[in-house]
Amino acid sequence: MLSNQYSITEVKQIINAEGEIIKEDLISVLLTDSRRINIAAEGLFFALSGRRNGHEFIAEAYSAGVRNFVVKQGPEIKLPDANFLIVVDVLLALQTLARHHRNRFNLDVIGITGSNGKTIVKEWLYQLMAADKIIVRNPKSYNSQIGVPLSVWQINEKNNLGIFEAGISLPGEMEKLEAVIKPNIGILTHLGTAHDSGFENTREKVLEKLKLFKHCTLLIHNYDQLVDYQQDIPATTCFTWSRSFKQADLYVFSETVIKKNYYLRAIFREKEIECLIPFLDQASIENAIICWAALLALGYPAAEVDKRLERLNPVSMRLELKTGINDCSVIDDSYNSDIQSLEIALNFLNQQNQHHKKTLILSDIFQSGLQEDVLYKQVAELIKSKKVDKFIGVGTALLSRQEYFDVPEKFFFTDTTELLNNLLTPGFKSETILIKGSRSFEFERVSRALVQKTHETVMEINLNAMLNNLNYYKSKLKPGVKLMAMVKAFSYGSGTFELANMLQYNKVDYLAVAYTDEGISLRQAGITMPIMVLNAEQSAFDKLAEFKLEPVIYSFGLFDNFIKFVQQNDILNYPVHLKIDTGMHRLGFEPVDMDLLCDLLEENKYIRVLSMFSHLAASEAPEHDQFTREQIGRFEKAAGAIEDCLNYKVIKHLSNTSGITRWPSAQFDMVRLGIGLYGIDAAVPADDSALQPITSLKTSISQVKKLVAGDTVGYGRNGVMKNDGRIATVRIGYADGYLRAFGNGVGNMLVNGVLVPTIGNVSMDMCMIDVSGVEVKEGDEVIVFNEQHRIEELATQIGTIPYEILTNISQRVKRVYFYE
Ligand SMILES: *Cc1c(COP(=O)(O)O)cnc(C)c1O
Repeated sequence: MLSNQYSITEVKQIINAEGEIIKEDLISVLLTDSRRINIAAEGLFFALSGRRNGHEFIAEAYSAGVRNFVVKQGPEIKLPDANFLIVVDVLLALQTLARHHRNRFNLDVIGITGSNGKTIVKEWLYQLMAADKIIVRNPKSYNSQIGVPLSVWQINEKNNLGIFEAGISLPGEMEKLEAVIKPNIGILTHLGTAHDSGFENTREKVLEKLKLFKHCTLLIHNYDQLVDYQQDIPATTCFTWSRSFKQADLYVFSETVIKKNYYLRAIFREKEIECLIPFLDQASIENAIICWAALLALGYPAAEVDKRLERLNPVSMRLELKTGINDCSVIDDSYNSDIQSLEIALNFLNQQNQHHKKTLILSDIFQSGLQEDVLYKQVAELIKSKKVDKFIGVGTALLSRQEYFDVPEKFFFTDTTELLNNLLTPGFKSETILIKGSRSFEFERVSRALVQKTHETVMEINLNAMLNNLNYYKSKLKPGVKLMAMVKAFSYGSGTFELANMLQYNKVDYLAVAYTDEGISLRQAGITMPIMVLNAEQSAFDKLAEFKLEPVIYSFGLFDNFIKFVQQNDILNYPVHLKIDTGMHRLGFEPVDMDLLCDLLEENKYIRVLSMFSHLAASEAPEHDQFTREQIGRFEKAAGAIEDCLNYKVIKHLSNTSGITRWPSAQFDMVRLGIGLYGIDAAVPADDSALQPITSLKTSISQVKKLVAGDTVGYGRNGVMKNDGRIATVRIGYADGYLRAFGNGVGNMLVNGVLVPTIGNVSMDMCMIDVSGVEVKEGDEVIVFNEQHRIEELATQIGTIPYEILTNISQRVKRVYFYE
């Protein structure tokens, strides 16, 4: 038997489950997400309850072919031929099984925790030691209560080192992860000071993190961080590093920049040693020092460590979605390649289904710890299950196994250069292309060939952050309350189908757009879920119907026109939404109109009212709470009147973002989430880690100039240099959405970590910033806004609201989506 193959009877014993085994099966794959079932054979599905009850997904998993389940209670309907293992706590059962698996192996395991840098340190240690160890590690940043057991499950008898990171957000979680990982070597990365909603205070959080090291015989950490915790360190031996404490095992005493490298000198075992790191930012430097300390602690010779550190590669954990040539979309994941991350990337490929055709460009995979034949059979099976239409294999190992791949179209090349010289052979048009290659194949060259050139100002959209925000609001909803995501105005400036696909994949109930055109674009990009149109224009009714979009009816005039339209087209029961004005005074029927509206609706066979809603005028503002309460009351009454005259149920909804946060009593049957999805909520403090901004706007410096006191800058000579200094011209102007109001020092931008003011008027395509005293050069990145320099701040500077800043960013600014 393979090392992670168990009989279902064995599993039953390990997790101490009830339930009858009706047929003996082998288990080798653990499944937790019914949307992502690739290999159903030998799969064991854990019906985990998160925001939704995992049991709701059993049927879906069953129809995907899964026959073994761990559940809290048996399914309501009988599913033939399946084993149900019944346990009290499904998550605990998953962890118990992984723990059992871990304990069968006697290998060194490094456990990593901290607030920042866990994934980078893990990936770098992998890069640094892959030459002499067969390493198993978490795919991407699978470090949660679910991700860790799934990662540990990958251990097999070939591995002689495990590197696992653990992330926590609540007290009590680390103990469970410790038991699953059981590290004998610990690494503590940077501890942040960020407000952490799950913990009373920093001390409580740090003590929780230290629990990972309970059974460690060696702990590598920064002495300066744990000065106040010396009594609480559980590990038997510590290897410390420090920039100030001379007695640390690795005392870093000198740091300088040499060309594009960072040169560090330190005292180790009373001798001076050195290393060169190919990174200049503070976070990377700290993470590299941690790796330096770790390798020394593990006994690598100092000179060897220096040699390896110099070759560190940046870790991009992101899957970037970019606009490609010939109407293609490109998912760029060209930094590494193993079967777990391939699976994650293929899931993302399936989620972004705007083009019908799905293409994978894959290189040979190294250091999998599996025999090549076994490995590539698994790869082939995965690719088949993910319904890839076109497969392009690069490398001799793939080339010699062409027959494994059962794909409609396939092409093989010996190396990257051969692929690049023959790009026309596979040809690319209107398809989504996933590029995934091992480092040595240099697939960034492939990505460069297939991605459209961009203007250097880009808006980056973090799809993980959006998912985080979505889940935050979902967690505020009472059971059964539906969620409508507002993606009007180009999703508040952040994109169209890219976000909508993510929302559809994550089973949001409804989408809403402002105009018919926006709905049509979504349909054309493959969005099939219901879409409500806030302002359906009469001239577009036929398009509305053709694309199955659902209009909001807000007045008697619109009502009449729409009824006429459906009548003429012989349509019955067309789904519509009714809007009631309870105090916003923008669109909607008045509460006094209800009787008349009832008369019109009764027995009307042409339309069917799916939902009824109103909009709050000031849900975020405590000073208007009395008014909001009145709006809620009016809505209840008006909606009740309509419901009485219709003899069917309709969905009632009222709350927008701050309504969800501040008015739990007003959730009715559904909420409409807008700006909160994009990480902004006037009712959630900006330093609360619960919400994450999803967008950042970046540009770059095109020229730097030395000026003297009295020189003027820009049109109208409004910018005047007070002293001698330097300015930089950056590639963003009011035509990009950086409004003129930001000029003359009102706005500021982040350059190399320093906030600098604008100087002079903002031009159409450019503006100038005062960089006196700041180290900058042409080409440097300039941040207009991101998670540190926030949109809220920009809005305050020019007296507007974040909504306006976001939606003003013009379409010529390229959007790049990424998914970690
Ligand atoms: C835009 C909009 C919302 C979303 O509002 P946020 O404050 O962004 O959450 C909700 N309902 C209607 C009718 C809207 O037009």
